[in-house]
Amino acid sequence: MSVHLIDSPSCLTEKQICYDYWQYDAKIGYLNHIQNLCQKHALSHKEFFKAIHRYRAYISDVRCANCNSYCFVDVPADIPYMREYKIWFCESCIEFSCGELVSQK
Ligand SMILES: [Zn+2]
Repeated sequence: MSVHLIDSPSCLTEKQICYDYWQYDAKIGYLNHIQNLCQKHALSHKEFFKAIHRYRAYISDVRCANCNSYCFVDVPADIPYMREYKIWFCESCIEFSCGELVSQK
């Protein structure tokens, strides 16, 4: 028997805010992007950042070459930077290898 969770409407709003946040276009600029989303969702900056910190984000097309874990990102601008790696290792694998594993661009 498994347990399934259903988001409440307020969670769905936060999920939409996060989804919008991660659709960042560098041409707009990060500060304008945040300002636009605060206006769109009628949120203060504090409320906005509280909402986006309820979710973690990863990119599924960059995975650790050792353990195959996903690459988590903190801000949208990290995405193109992380995608430049031809070989990428997660922090856990780098630490466990005592620095022998090195990500390569
Ligand atoms: Zn790893």
